Amino acid sequence: MMDRFIFLDINGVLDIGQGLDSELVDRFAQLVKDTDATVVLSSTWRRCSDTFKIIRKALREREVLLRWTTPYCPMDQINEEGALYHESRPAGDIQRTHEILRWLQHREITAWVAIDDEDLRLDEANRVRTNEYVGLTVEKADEAKAKLFCLT
Ligand SMILES: [Mg+2]
Repeated sequence: MMDRFIFLDINGVLDIGQGLDSELVDRFAQLVKDTDATVVLSSTWRRCSDTFKIIRKALREREVLLRWTTPYCPMDQINEEGALYHESRPAGDIQRTHEILRWLQHREITAWVAIDDEDLRLDEANRVRTNEYVGLTVEKADEAKAKLFCLT
């Protein structure tokens, strides 16, 4: 059996400006069940206990466990670590990308996707980019599913 992981952003994915959108959270929970994936929260929501509890509770109500989060890597530390990111990109994208790759380090994981509205510096096979104004659509959920099953 293959382990599958989903790195989850919230703003622009499950919250499109009015707090968590129950339809979007429902869709995400269904995606997790369909793929038997493990969720890793990569959103800034992981860094505040109030927001972390809100998303954990919303997922738990849909029988999805949230037990993992990516580490926090400050930008100055990332910059010190070197020339990995020489392109001109928004700092947020670099930081998010770095934190995801850091979590993956030393883990043998082949099937994973990051669902995010930011332009992450990841292979196409590993990312699903949502539109911040509509979030996780049916099409984007299907794209994530196909990528997790390595069908693309
Ligand atoms: Mg976002």
